[in-house]
Amino acid sequence: MIEIIKQKALNEHIPIIMDDTLEEIRKIFIKEKPMKILELGTATGYSAICFANILLKNYEDESCPSVLIDTIELDKLRAKEAIDNIKQMGLEDKINVIIGNAVDILPTLNEKYDAFFIDAAKGKYPIFLKEALRLSKKGSIILADNILYKGYVMSDYNKHKQRTAVRNLREYIKEVTENPNLETQILEIGDGLAISRVIKE
Ligand code: SAH
Ligand code: MG
Repeated sequence: MIEIIKQKALNEHIPIIMDDTLEEIRKIFIKEKPMKILELGTATGYSAICFANILLKNYEDESCPSVLIDTIELDKLRAKEAIDNIKQMGLEDKINVIIGNAVDILPTLNEKYDAFFIDAAKGKYPIFLKEALRLSKKGSIILADNILYKGYVMSDYNKHKQRTAVRNLREYIKEVTENPNLETQILEIGDGLAISRVIKE
């Protein structure tokens, strides 16, 4: 089933999480054991389902009921497909799809999360970071996918229609690396993954 969801997304050119990025996140989640995750950019639910499977396996022996993934998707059709996929996987108690623009939804949230997966509009990453920091606590992990955006972010590339995205991804990198409350690594796997750990609240 998960392979079918993955293949369908790939066929439709939906930019789902890349295998090596997922593998890295698997290692992080196995080590850190986050319980509450917030994802920005559900698409059809592929990454959220993978995360839920990793976390539930993590807690197999402890039958941990508190794993919960909130995930926000702007596109109504994709969100509906995600809700269907999540039901088919029997994960409807673990993954909560919120339909709407993350820029509007985030300020309405107030609970703290153990981990964040930022994977929506690249031009909004600095706004997403600000909100993730507000919703984080000491030890929270903030992951940002596509942070190197096909290499554009690290090249002198700046005269293209993706200019705003590139500028904001650079801004995100600057903020996470300069923030003394964060410890950050930028990995050149997949389309680039930023991993920031909140070391001070
Ligand atoms: N995380 C998914 C892929 C997400 S693709 C996976 O790996 O399986 C990015 C998604 O972000 C798209 O479906 C797009 O509709 C959504 N998106 C873009 N801007 C958004 C916004 N401002 N708020 C919420 N979702 C957004
Ligand atoms: Mg992505």
